[in-house]
Amino acid sequence: MNTKLTRIFAVSASILAAIHCIAKPTKPVDFFAENAVANAVGLLQHPAGQHHNGITYVAYQGSLTDPYVAAYNHTTDTWTGPFKAGTSELSKNGSKTDSHGKPALIIDDAGYIHVIFGGHGADESYGKNPRGNTHHGRMIHIVSKRPLDITEWEELDNIPPFGTYGHLAKLSNGDIYYFFRHGAHRSHWVYQISRDNGRTFEEPISVVKNLAHTDDQGRKYQDSWYCHFSVGPDEQLLVTYTYHKCWNIDVPHSHEQRNVYVMTIDTRDGTCRNLQGEQIALPITKDLADQKTLAVRTPEHQWTSLGVGHLGSNGMPHIMYTAGDSRGRRFKGPEAPYYFRYDGKQWTGSKNAFAPELSRGDMKFSPNGEIRTLIGGLGKVAWWKSTDGGLTFSEDKIVLANTNSRYLVSSLFSNAHPNAQALVAEIDRSSDSPNRRMYLVGNDGPIKR
Ligand code: ZN
Repeated sequence: MNTKLTRIFAVSASILAAIHCIAKPTKPVDFFAENAVANAVGLLQHPAGQHHNGITYVAYQGSLTDPYVAAYNHTTDTWTGPFKAGTSELSKNGSKTDSHGKPALIIDDAGYIHVIFGGHGADESYGKNPRGNTHHGRMIHIVSKRPLDITEWEELDNIPPFGTYGHLAKLSNGDIYYFFRHGAHRSHWVYQISRDNGRTFEEPISVVKNLAHTDDQGRKYQDSWYCHFSVGPDEQLLVTYTYHKCWNIDVPHSHEQRNVYVMTIDTRDGTCRNLQGEQIALPITKDLADQKTLAVRTPEHQWTSLGVGHLGSNGMPHIMYTAGDSRGRRFKGPEAPYYFRYDGKQWTGSKNAFAPELSRGDMKFSPNGEIRTLIGGLGKVAWWKSTDGGLTFSEDKIVLANTNSRYLVSSLFSNAHPNAQALVAEIDRSSDSPNRRMYLVGNDGPIKR
């Protein structure tokens, strides 16, 4: 073939390729992104999304555990993004992937979008943590440069670097609450309030604290906690938490994680109360938690992993957690899902409230009294519902299903559009790729792209 012909062929091929690209049939797919990594969404780091004027904005942990933000317009059925919104200090330079800093997103009353991410107790180079210990990364707060525009972001230097498991909530008066563990494993859980659209935050308020102990055999340990915060009716905060006995020696270290506790914080005056209405001084210690706020005492050899807690429409709390046997080893699974509710006098609930393979999810309360839970696990994500106040649940609707996959669901967005209520990350067990598909799901399944 002479040179001229080769050139013609080459040009034709490139034109054909361009036409092919334009004319490529765009069969819609169920996912909106494929660059999520590891445990890309979770229940503690929340919300993962917010609905605002017909658009749902979402954030998830993408490549290198950096935060990515996308938006879906329900009127025009179009997607924007995902855009890389910031750079986490975790999982860089070949270090192990660390999912603790997955993002939480909230929109302030002026329309600016805030994302916090990247924290796992902060690297020791950030100095001494006044409320606990340090580990890796740094909690970073970024805000969109323009209202409701996810394309460009800037960092605000107004939160401590030490945060882990950041969650955000906005009250009806516009105050933004930022809840987090103030450091690594052995740190207080705190919250901070911003009354100026997230531009400044008041000093942290410690909710639970960690004391050092020595048992009767002279073995040393420290208190460690996992807390979930949610906003309920009358803007009461519900704090749901579990206790981890953190040994200084390996007995083994992660042998004991137990019990579920609840208490409320009144956002009008910051007072904390137990379910009997008794006021409790913060921060809570292990002794005080046992005396005043215990909801479920779990068996000694049961590894209890915190899920979520919410106040129902009557102001009574409901909690979900998972648990498995931890005898003689660090717990690795399998874990069973539990659902408990308080009726004003006592806690009732059960193991395997949902199918045993469906372990983690979130709940919401419908005006008709129905409780709906979105649960993910092995092989599927499904809505389950209860019409008896949470005593029993039945499967209502499968949202995603693939026998090769394991699904992680985010917490439910509090003000969601019915078609877009949570994010789901898919771990395809038949694939070696580190990347995960991300789905935005609602009542009837995922929003296609
Ligand atoms: Zn520990």
